[in-house]
Amino acid sequence: MLTFYPFWFRKLSMSTMKYSESEILLQHGVRPLLHRVEVYRYLLENRVHPTADDIYTALTREGVSIARSTVYNILTLLVENNLVQALSIEEKELRYDACMTPHIHFKCNQCGEIYDINEGLFPSIDLKGGFQIDSVEVTIKGTCPHCL
Ligand SMILES: [Zn+2]
Ligand SMILES: [Zn+2]
Repeated sequence: MLTFYPFWFRKLSMSTMKYSESEILLQHGVRPLLHRVEVYRYLLENRVHPTADDIYTALTREGVSIARSTVYNILTLLVENNLVQALSIEEKELRYDACMTPHIHFKCNQCGEIYDINEGLFPSIDLKGGFQIDSVEVTIKGTCPHCL
């Protein structure tokens, strides 16, 4: 099947070889500008539920020249377009997750690590009374196997 992509997409994918991330962004109506691809790629490759600051620090360390405010703006854009979910596990700051399938999180109170708990099915919730569910966040807090 032949698919037409605008010139800027072909140029970007050929120069960076980040075809798959760019394509996912396009499918969600997000123009795959280089910084957007970098932030999304980082979230796909690092399933550690980083904060915006974590992402900024990591990308800067990788040699990506990006402003902190740009990282925040891109994350807002990715959340708005259902590419990334923002988790309000911490009171003070949001954490970001590129896994969009419903899953339970486990936060270790000792090391602060947030784990994805994929065992078992996510419980389906049937609300009576005409409420419509847009998103569900389930976080279990405790001590992880490494800290026990
Ligand atoms: Zn731990
Ligand atoms: Zn997760």
